[in-house]
Amino acid sequence: MQEKIVCVNCHNEVPANIRLKGNQQYCGAKACQNARKAQWKRNKMAADPDFAAKQKKSQQHWRKNKPAPQYQKLIGVFFISLSRRPAWTFIL
Ligand SMILES: [Zn+2]
Repeated sequence: MQEKIVCVNCHNEVPANIRLKGNQQYCGAKACQNARKAQWKRNKMAADPDFAAKQKKSQQHWRKNKPAPQYQKLIGVFFISLSRRPAWTFIL
């Protein structure tokens, strides 16, 4: 007999994975697995200062070495130009 679980992310009733021991809370859908991993990371970041520090350092390293593509820069310039526009020009 197959047990069923209710996924805490999508709230669908799905058959439990027979290979998992313990209480399964998420179904196998991509979005729900991503949610599970994000939740795991949130808990880990809160509970483990070493992990949080390493994540922060890794992010900084990534940002430094991967500059935004040209299109992102263009969008940025576009929005900056909008924010610098005098308000009265929007009604023209
Ligand atoms: Zn789900």
